[in-house]
Amino acid sequence: MTRTIEEAKKLIESLMKLQEDNTSNYVFPCPRCGHDRMDKIATRNALSRRADVYICDSCGMEEALFDAAGKDPLPLNEWSMVKGFDSEDEDDEQTCRVCGCTWDNACEGGCYWVEDNLCNRCSEKMSELNPYYYTFGTDPEYPYSRGWVEVYANTWEEAHEKFRTRFPDRHGHEGTINCAFFYGKESWERSSMSKGNMGEFCHEVII
Ligand SMILES: [Zn+2]
Ligand SMILES: [Zn+2]
Ligand SMILES: [Zn+2]
Repeated sequence: MTRTIEEAKKLIESLMKLQEDNTSNYVFPCPRCGHDRMDKIATRNALSRRADVYICDSCGMEEALFDAAGKDPLPLNEWSMVKGFDSEDEDDEQTCRVCGCTWDNACEGGCYWVEDNLCNRCSEKMSELNPYYYTFGTDPEYPYSRGWVEVYANTWEEAHEKFRTRFPDRHGHEGTINCAFFYGKESWERSSMSKGNMGEFCHEVII
């Protein structure tokens, strides 16, 4: 969700009262750049030219420079505070890591959570199948850099087919699955991969 400039302005200006509140020890980060570099005494910071709110000195300077150069100011709905608000909203939404269903957009026929990020429909399908793991290296032509993709299927053949439907073989390398290695359940458990593959983990689950 992107806010309009007016909505953003309202949100930003609602901060000024809090900034001027001397009874609280909390110092809000700069609403424009998001950095923690505001002076505790509100009036020692710069007053924005765009909204009734205090911003950090560097942002104050930048606004002045933009104006002097005749450049367009940073739109209010792109201020860090506004973007932070909106992305928090999105992060808060509970989503199934496999099918992407949410509270408002459940699977057909309804579903419920069995884990924080897994719905019962997906969990049931997964429990009837075997897991297969496809890992990646740093080659930029892999679908992901490092980490792995999990495929749930009855057999290797079926797993490969599902993987290839989602990630077709590279051009000129038809016949070679586009990953570094693949593991079945036992060999995966013997490997130390579940602790991370070069710092990355599961990117995607395919059922
Ligand atoms: Zn700033
Ligand atoms: Zn699901
Ligand atoms: Zn679901």
